[in-house]
Amino acid sequence: MDFALTEEQSAIFDMAYAFGQEHIAPFAQEWEAAGTIPREIWTQLAELGLGGLYVSEESGGTGLTRLDATLVFEALSMACPSVAAFLSIHNMCAAMLDKFGSDDIKARILAPAITMEKLLSYCLTEPGAGSDAAALKTRAVRTNDGYTLNGTKAFISGGGYSDAYVVMCRTGDEGARGISTVVVENGAAGLSYGGLEAKMGWRSQPTRQVQFDDCAVPAENLVGTEGDGFKYAMAGLDGGRLNISACSLGGAQTALSQTLTYMGERKAFGKSIDQFQALQFRLADMEIELQAARTFLRQAAWKLDTKAPDATKFCAMAKCFVTETGSRVADQCLQLHGGYGYLSDYGIEKLVRDLRVHQILEGTNEIMRMITARQLLAERG
Ligand SMILES: Cc1cc2nc3c(=O)[nH]c(=O)nc-3n(C[C@H](O)[C@H](O)[C@H](O)COP(=O)(O)OP(=O)(O)OC[C@H]3O[C@@H](n4cnc5c(N)ncnc54)[C@H](O)[C@@H]3O)c2cc1C
Repeated sequence: MDFALTEEQSAIFDMAYAFGQEHIAPFAQEWEAAGTIPREIWTQLAELGLGGLYVSEESGGTGLTRLDATLVFEALSMACPSVAAFLSIHNMCAAMLDKFGSDDIKARILAPAITMEKLLSYCLTEPGAGSDAAALKTRAVRTNDGYTLNGTKAFISGGGYSDAYVVMCRTGDEGARGISTVVVENGAAGLSYGGLEAKMGWRSQPTRQVQFDDCAVPAENLVGTEGDGFKYAMAGLDGGRLNISACSLGGAQTALSQTLTYMGERKAFGKSIDQFQALQFRLADMEIELQAARTFLRQAAWKLDTKAPDATKFCAMAKCFVTETGSRVADQCLQLHGGYGYLSDYGIEKLVRDLRVHQILEGTNEIMRMITARQLLAERG
């Protein structure tokens, strides 16, 4: 057993960290205020090979492992979790198209997605189907040329901003087996967007409903086989959970690093506040929790990479543990900044807001506990 990163893995982390510190961190608050991320940042990230992180090399991607990818997301989140998380969603979709899409989809949609000229969004959730995603109602009806799509997707990250939408929709009966995946490109007749959602965090990412009203989808835009769409959607999620956890880890690490500096500078009762043992213990607890979270996350990523039979359970457990640890640490860091932590200038309140949603999406943490408990009970001797 070797817990050390390889030289190559350290280089991947350092490259993403350096890019984030130079090109993302100084602008993160400005982009949050503007409610959007400049598109140039994506093409720059793609030039570093981050547009198709775990898309196979045969398809033009970078072919990294899931563990390598967590390093990228941890490092980029140290600059801004919202930007890093958007990249994660794009990559989750790209990997789905690589794994299950036809050669035609790979040429038309995946190739420009890898260069990030085309940004991808993942459309599973609906107003009436969140955790119970298999209850989705958006329906695709067969026509001579393909499908006519009707329905509404809710909370879509990149809604109205992305260039193509990977949409889970019903082509068959009720339940998971009646679900297929299609790609709907921006500009398709019958595709429209709801208003911009006002959110607590992830504010630089536009979130909107995505609506389909007799939207024409060509037959070539079906991903894989009809009826297998839910399987594809879930296949993307194990890795998505690792990425979101890495985003919590990176954000919380930044909060802790800034807090360490701040506590050496801030004085109260005649000494710097890092001299109070009660506060030193809080620092120690945060360090312990973050190191435990990092180790657990990397173990879960290794399970997914090695196709371990309990990989899904580990991804769920890690997602729960790391996202809750990340939020707790960021919140404690805000507390240790006193009133200044509450001001946007210090950047800590943004981290608290950005990290909070990681407990809700890619499956809520209640659903993560459900997956874990189900597996535990099934494994009972
Ligand atoms: C900022 C943001 C961005 C998002 N981006 C996307 C996106 O890009 N694409 C996409 O498809 N979706 C996206 N989502 C949607 C997200 O995945 C859902 O919000 C999430 O899956 C929860 O669904 P819900 O909101 O309908 O909550 P519900 O499913 O209604 O859950 C409500 C509460 O009940 C709990 N609960 C539900 N069922 C159970 C159960 N069986 N046992 C115990 N507890 C249960 C939940 O954990 C939660 O606490 C995004 C959400 C947000 C907030």
